Amino acid sequence: MKILKFGGKSLANGKGIHKVIDIIQDKVNRGEAITVVLSARGKSTDELEAILDKAVKNESYQEQLEAFKQYQVVNYEDFNVDDEFEILDKLFEGVSLLGDYSKRIKDQVLSQGEVISAKLLTHILQQKGVNANFTDSRELIKTDGKFGEAQPLDKLSKENVVDHFKKYNGTTVNIVTGFIASNANNDTTTLGRNGSNYTAALLANYLDAEELQNFTHVSGIYTANPDLVSDAKKIEKLSFTEANELAYFGANILHAKTIIPLIEKNIPLRILNTFDHENDGTLITSEANEKGIKSLSVLENVSLVNLEGRGLLGKVGVDARIFKALAYKNISVSIISQGSSERGIGLVVEADKAVQAKKVLEQEFETDFYKRDVNMITVENDVSVISIIGQDLSTFHRPYNALIKNRVIPLLFNNTVTGKNVSLVVYKNQLHKALNVIHGEIFGVTKKINIAVFGHGLVGGTLVDQILKSAKEIEKRKKIELNIFAVANSKKILLNKKGIKKTWQLDIKEGTSYEIKDVIEFADENHLENLIAIDNTASEAFTNNYITLVENGFDLVSSNKVANTLSFDFYKELRIKLEEYQKQYLYETNVGAGLPLIDTIKLLHLSGENITRIKGVFSGSLSYLFNTFSEEERQFSEILQEAIDNGFTEPDPREDLCGNDVGRKLLILARELDLQNEFIDINIHNLIPENLREGEAKGFLERLKDLDSVYKKIKDDQKSNHVLRYIGDLHGDLFAEKGILDVKLVSVPESSALGQVKGSDSIFEIYTESYGDQPIVIQGAGAGAAVTARGVFGDILRLTEKG
Ligand code: ASP
Ligand code: MG
Repeated sequence: MKILKFGGKSLANGKGIHKVIDIIQDKVNRGEAITVVLSARGKSTDELEAILDKAVKNESYQEQLEAFKQYQVVNYEDFNVDDEFEILDKLFEGVSLLGDYSKRIKDQVLSQGEVISAKLLTHILQQKGVNANFTDSRELIKTDGKFGEAQPLDKLSKENVVDHFKKYNGTTVNIVTGFIASNANNDTTTLGRNGSNYTAALLANYLDAEELQNFTHVSGIYTANPDLVSDAKKIEKLSFTEANELAYFGANILHAKTIIPLIEKNIPLRILNTFDHENDGTLITSEANEKGIKSLSVLENVSLVNLEGRGLLGKVGVDARIFKALAYKNISVSIISQGSSERGIGLVVEADKAVQAKKVLEQEFETDFYKRDVNMITVENDVSVISIIGQDLSTFHRPYNALIKNRVIPLLFNNTVTGKNVSLVVYKNQLHKALNVIHGEIFGVTKKINIAVFGHGLVGGTLVDQILKSAKEIEKRKKIELNIFAVANSKKILLNKKGIKKTWQLDIKEGTSYEIKDVIEFADENHLENLIAIDNTASEAFTNNYITLVENGFDLVSSNKVANTLSFDFYKELRIKLEEYQKQYLYETNVGAGLPLIDTIKLLHLSGENITRIKGVFSGSLSYLFNTFSEEERQFSEILQEAIDNGFTEPDPREDLCGNDVGRKLLILARELDLQNEFIDINIHNLIPENLREGEAKGFLERLKDLDSVYKKIKDDQKSNHVLRYIGDLHGDLFAEKGILDVKLVSVPESSALGQVKGSDSIFEIYTESYGDQPIVIQGAGAGAAVTARGVFGDILRLTEKG
């Protein structure tokens, strides 16, 4: 025999009823012996409660009652429930006259929901030729007299059930009312809300059923509520003990008392979906999972009561007094924990008991108030509890750190005494984000990284396209989902929480104007976690947003060099903020584009390797210019013009020729070594003759030939087999506060490392103490949109690994 239980949602409308009938008929046709337990349809129990509420206040309830009746019979006109409706009419009339009702009356009212539902299903099944038998559980299950939450009397109930099923056996399918029972006087009692599950478990126990199939509207038990966590996975199998943990923490399909009759007889429980009944659902047996299971559950309607006071610290018996005082008023505490300040105690109670709890505790600690041991009791209402079931403290730092990184600061956490559970209290408005962050962390399922890209010119645009193109592959290989939720330039922004599309270049035309706070708010409202802001602008203005972004949970990646070359004070302040908010700032492309230069220097420096000098060709444009000029017998202006035409230089080539860009890169490297240099400390050899430095670009471009004599002379004055290179050179005492930073044009032997650089390559020589005269050399394409975008992409991936 299998017991099938269908919940209210399965029976809510014609579609559900149709499914339920199909499932039953299918089993009958296959010759399976089954018993069906039903709860009231849809929200009928709530409705009856609401009507009762109106009646007792002598408010007009007729309309609502009519609607209730209509709902029960619609589409089933030949179904006769006059008796039940008459009972309800009389009961409500009485309550309305008296202006009062007892729990006994309430049970009588509520029970009609189950009676009607079981009668309806019996009726339909009979019409379909199934040998269905309406079974009123009040005649079978006997309870004590505690109306509203009655306790079954097992011995008597079992006898009744066994007798009944002996009488109605063979092909008969008993359609049993859930939830309702009766006491010794044959008064109707109920088993508490969601009591149909209990009825089904009791029947399974009494009848030694082989399985209890609980049909719900979900396909089983998940690692988290799939409505809140889209990555939640179904748990195929778990043990009763494990399920009990889930039930306790609010997975409302299960209640501890429901499970006990099953455990007693070792009867498996299967959670199935009426609307997807081919799905095997979740099977719960006495067998525990080898590795244990992990799952997240949520308690929502709770409040946090805080006791604050110096005197609480280390005082014996405080917890006991709290529990005692609250228990006396029937207020149960689900979590208690020492507050993070260590000067307070926090406890979680049901939301509607919070005010009372505060009062009770104020009374209990009255004298402590006088002694100033307790100075405040407060209630925090908008909180939720997340329980990580199967989590112990040894690895708890991982989800915890992930939360902090995402700016979810738990109000308190504690681990339960029994079982491996850790519970956290968070603000309700952070629940969604917190759940997703924890879930992503503990299940190692795809981690979502939410990216905002600022600046979509050559580098930014290429980056966006590169990310869109490789996102799928990265997700497959690294389980990281890169979601670009914002793209912006200085004027307009395109926002999409699900990620911008391939057509973003077009879509952004419809974008809106924005301020940085709009981006922050958008991320907040949409519960976006693991935030990264990418700065591909070249603007100083945007760097003003860095600290705000960090304070609001963003990691930073930039190809923009400005932030690192402003005053040393700002440089320092940004790093302090990063530390304070546990955020990262990566900028590998600031020097040598995608070449792994900054990372290498950072590592060497961090590992204690003393860097004594860094020297190299830092600019791709100037590399091209002097490599070509040294090698070919052509005029300087001719080669410069060629570089301009090929887009190797800035539109106004003076931006390259003035040496500031090389200077900035050199300064960034110096600061990596903890040197406190400022931009003005750099000795820059400006390649533009003084008389050509001012004025519009156009004027300069017309006078390129003026440069020829200057550079011809420099070239001719060299020793033989020497070539010209424009280099950055960081030297001096690099342990002092400041180093010497030179940006200059030098003549080097053709055979040297610098002399052998070709095309527009960059080269960096890093001299260190242990490597002596042999520098570490990093060389390659050090400029260009594609390699720079790749470098930025690399920083993003580096961040995702750190997080
Ligand atoms: N109809 C009852 C309730 O809503 C019993 C049940 O659904 O299990 O609580
Ligand atoms: Mg680099």
